[in-house]
Amino acid sequence: MSVLTMVAPGVMALERRSVREPTSREVLIKIVATGICGTDLHGVAGENGRRTPGQVMGHETAGYVDRVGDGVDPAIVGRPVTIDPLVSCGDCDACRNGAAQQCPDRWVIGVRADFDAAFAEYITVPIDSVVLLPVAMPVWYGALIEPLAVGYHAMVRAATNPNDRVLIIGGGPIGQAAAIACRRLGVERVVVSEPDELRGAVVEALGFVRTTPADLNEAVRRHLDTKATVVIDAVGSSMTVAAALSNSQRGARIVLVGMASQQLTLWAYDITAAERVLIGAYCYSHEDFRSTAAWAADHPETMSVLVDLHEPLARGPHVFAALLNGTTKANKVLLRDEVG
Ligand SMILES: [Zn+2]
Ligand SMILES: [Zn+2]
Repeated sequence: MSVLTMVAPGVMALERRSVREPTSREVLIKIVATGICGTDLHGVAGENGRRTPGQVMGHETAGYVDRVGDGVDPAIVGRPVTIDPLVSCGDCDACRNGAAQQCPDRWVIGVRADFDAAFAEYITVPIDSVVLLPVAMPVWYGALIEPLAVGYHAMVRAATNPNDRVLIIGGGPIGQAAAIACRRLGVERVVVSEPDELRGAVVEALGFVRTTPADLNEAVRRHLDTKATVVIDAVGSSMTVAAALSNSQRGARIVLVGMASQQLTLWAYDITAAERVLIGAYCYSHEDFRSTAAWAADHPETMSVLVDLHEPLARGPHVFAALLNGTTKANKVLLRDEVG
């Protein structure tokens, strides 16, 4: 089969690799669509050290079950599925508490270097990672469940409720997913700050109020009436954390989901004296992921707005290069088995 691998920082290439037959409690999936994530781009560029040459990445994916190994019900062959890429031990305190994303042994399909992931024609995964999709839903929607689950989990981490006034800093796919999750949770007062016009247009097409960093303070006053009670920082820099602090009420919950900077500088008294709570969010629980898959099936109008470019897997090297050098701009690119 063809796979897309990173051959050197900034360079992707197509390679032939053999399909790995599913063994005990594994499933072979024929891939229909895999999304390119911001972390894939940063990783290929060599910026975050989270991707390695020779690696087959791809963690936002959907396809059809092709074959199953021992211990898996063969009735699922042919079913449309997505993959919950967070792999956990299932047995530690975190896993037993339904917080697999906190498992000390967790790893992520598409991030771990020695596991061939979804920028490929096929992927072999544990049955526990397979999430069945509703048959009526276009299967490529399944590739959007992963980023949507990240945004949903961020809102859940803040225990967001319909009375909250939410500011989302960063309107890329994760900020968009957080805004979509607000709607799902019944929150009506939401402002999204995003400087990029293309991403901002997607935020507006989804029906949310969009502002820019320059107009942020004013937009928060106007659209939230007062400061925010929940802020999602989908960027993760000292500057965006400062904006989160200055635009939130005392007692606000600030969720750090963006990972732009490894180290942050912040005003400690904005936390202590104002009793703000700084909350980390990473991936999703297995329950967040599965409930997001079920939610997506009923919201096709949302799903169709998010993807603006479908490209065949064979064009992957070109697409990555064009996204990295800026000649192609897109909100969300899906690499497809076939386009048409
Ligand atoms: Zn991702
Ligand atoms: Zn565990």
